[in-house]
Amino acid sequence: MREVVAFLGLGANIGDRERAIRTAVERLGVTPGIRVLRVSSLRETELVGDGPPQGMFLNGACSIATSLPASALLSVCKALELAAGRTLPAPRNHPRALDVDLLLFGEEHIDTKELTVPHPRLFERAFVLEPLRELGVSEQALSDLRPMPAPRLVTTTREFQAICSTWIEGGCLTGLVPTMGALHAGHGSLFECARKECDRVAATIFVNPKQFGPKEDLAAYPRDLPGDLRLCAKSGVDVVFAPSPAEMYAPGFASNIDVGAEGETMEGATRPGHFRGVSTVVARLFAIARPHRAYFGQKDAQQVAVLRRLVRDLGFPLRLVECPTVREADGLAMSSRNVYLDAKDRAAAPVIHRALRAAQQAFAGGLRDRDALVQVATAVLAGEPRATIDYLELRSEGDLLPLPIGPVAGGRMLAAVRFSGGRTVRLLDNMSVVASFENSGS
Ligand code: AMP
Repeated sequence: MREVVAFLGLGANIGDRERAIRTAVERLGVTPGIRVLRVSSLRETELVGDGPPQGMFLNGACSIATSLPASALLSVCKALELAAGRTLPAPRNHPRALDVDLLLFGEEHIDTKELTVPHPRLFERAFVLEPLRELGVSEQALSDLRPMPAPRLVTTTREFQAICSTWIEGGCLTGLVPTMGALHAGHGSLFECARKECDRVAATIFVNPKQFGPKEDLAAYPRDLPGDLRLCAKSGVDVVFAPSPAEMYAPGFASNIDVGAEGETMEGATRPGHFRGVSTVVARLFAIARPHRAYFGQKDAQQVAVLRRLVRDLGFPLRLVECPTVREADGLAMSSRNVYLDAKDRAAAPVIHRALRAAQQAFAGGLRDRDALVQVATAVLAGEPRATIDYLELRSEGDLLPLPIGPVAGGRMLAAVRFSGGRTVRLLDNMSVVASFENSGS
C-alpha cells in the first residue's frame, strides 16, 4: 500500500506536558496504518498570539509514514487530543493538555472545510519550523510548500476552476464577488459580507468588454491591480481571478444571454447591450466557480434585478446576496467612476443622495403620488446646475417593475445623473422610499 510521509506538530502547556507528548507518540506507533519515523527534541515556548495568561508550551514534531488518507489522519490527531483529556471543540489559544496538528502530508496541498495542509500558520512559527528542520525537512521543500500569500492571484480559467472545485469537494461554502476592479470600500463591504458567511471567498476582477458600448469608457476604465490585491488581502479574500478578455472569452465565443424586458429600460435604454454583457459574464463566472453564494451591490439595483431573473430562469443553484450601498461621508455612493469627477462636480455630486432622500422624506410625510414623489427629487436635482438627469424613476421594490400612475405603497427610486464639468461622468444611485432615515444608505 502507498505510504505518505507526514509531519505532525505536538504541543502541550498543562499537566505533565512531556508525558502527554510521549504518550501521544506511543499511541501513534500502535495505530494501524501509521509508522512513527522520527521524533524531534522538545522545546519550551511562550504562547504565540492572543489568549488568557497561561503556562509555557512544550513543543516538538514527529514524522510518520502512513497509508491513511489525510482526513483519517486528522481524525487520529483529534482522537489523541481527546485521549489526553482535551475537550473539543477547544477555544483557540486556550491552555491545552495536548495539541496534535497535521503540518505536512507528503507534498500535498489540501484545502477543505476541516483541513488546510500545509498547516496555515506553520511558516510563521519558529516552534514548528525548527523541529521540522531537525526532522530533515529541507529549506527547499519548505519554500516549495509555502502557500502564496493571500489572496492568491490566478489568471487562467483552468486554475480558477480547479481551486473552486477543490473547495466545493472539500465541503467549503464558497462565495463569489464579481467586480471590475478599481476597488473601493463598497466592494470591500461585499468581500466582508462574503467572508462572514462563507468558508472561502473568491473575487473576480474583469473589465468586461461585452458590457461597454462602442462609445463608452472601456479603455479608460480605471485599473489598479496592486491596490485591488491589497484591499482583497485586507478583506480576507482567498483567491482573486483576474483573467484577460481572451481567457474569459475563448476565440469563437458566441453564446450571449438575452435578458429580456428587465434589461431594456433605464440603464438598458441608455446602454443597449449592457445587461446582455453583464449577464453573459456573470453566467460564465457562475459556470466556472460554481459558488454557493454570489454577492452584488444594491447600488446597481437594476443589475441585481436582472441577475435575479438570470439565476431563476437558468436555474443556477446559488443564493444571490444583495449588499447595501456604501457611501462617502457626504452621501455620494462610492463608485469606481467617482475618480473621474473634477473638483466642482465632486462637490456637486452628493445632490443625487439629497434628491433621493427628499423623496423618501416626502413619502414619510404622507406624499403617495408616484409622479409627485419623482417631482420632489427632480426639483432637488434641478437646483444643481452641474447635474443633468438621465433618468429618475420610481419602480416597484425588488423586481423594479414600472408602477402605475397614481398613489403608490412605496418602491425604489432610481437615478442616473450626468456631470460634465470635466469629462462626462454618469453616476447611478437608488434608494427605497419607505426605508427609515437611519437606514437611508440602502
Ligand atoms: P463594479 O466593479 O462597479 O462592477 O462593481 C462590482 C460590485 O460591487 C457590484 O455588485 C456593485 O453593485 C458593487 N458596488 C459598487 N459600488 C458599490 C457601493 N458603493 N456599495 C456597495 N456595493 C457596491
